[in-house]
Amino acid sequence: MADSPTTTREGVLATAKRMLQDGLVEGTSGNISGRLPDGLVCVTPSSVAYDTMTLDDLVVLDLDGNVVDGARSPTTEKDLHLSALRAYPELGAVIHTHAVYATMFALAHEPIPAVIEEVVVYVGGDVPCCEYKGTGSRQLGDEVASHLADRGAALLANHGLVTCGPSPEQALHNAALVERTAKIIWGARAMGATIHPLPEKVNTDMAGVYRFMRENP
Ligand SMILES: [Zn+2]
Repeated sequence: MADSPTTTREGVLATAKRMLQDGLVEGTSGNISGRLPDGLVCVTPSSVAYDTMTLDDLVVLDLDGNVVDGARSPTTEKDLHLSALRAYPELGAVIHTHAVYATMFALAHEPIPAVIEEVVVYVGGDVPCCEYKGTGSRQLGDEVASHLADRGAALLANHGLVTCGPSPEQALHNAALVERTAKIIWGARAMGATIHPLPEKVNTDMAGVYRFMRENP
């Protein structure tokens, strides 16, 4: 893990608060993790409001999910985060939200098509929808991780969105981008518009840019 990107507890807390400010989470829903320099993982706690959350509320886990530091209980959805961080050493952070427009696609079990260039650049292509697995289960974590090998985001069937990146800031950027894209596609469909795919060569070339940026943050 020597080459893995890392963040700080402060970076995790600041991004957690940004998720609330940016309207990507409400109340205590959603959660975020960041890989720390010692290889442990900092996650947000279960059932603590973001606006009053402090550094002392954060929980530090090892990659197997054992609590190493913190008085709170870790998010019940910790396996979403740990499975991805175990599988992909080039990732440094994971975010999970129930963002409204992305979750519409999750209910439909429908990928969010990468019909806007920046989605291919920052996410790698269509945002796939994972098979339904129970919330908080190790099986859901493994299912999600299997879709993140070449993507910066995935939908959880009947549940919400997961995004990842080398840093909490990049994972947050991806969450906002995917949510905005879902909203645009929803609106275009409401207009009765035909949504045209990007040319295949653009997709292929930009997916290469995504791969490079993911491995060279
Ligand atoms: Zn959730």
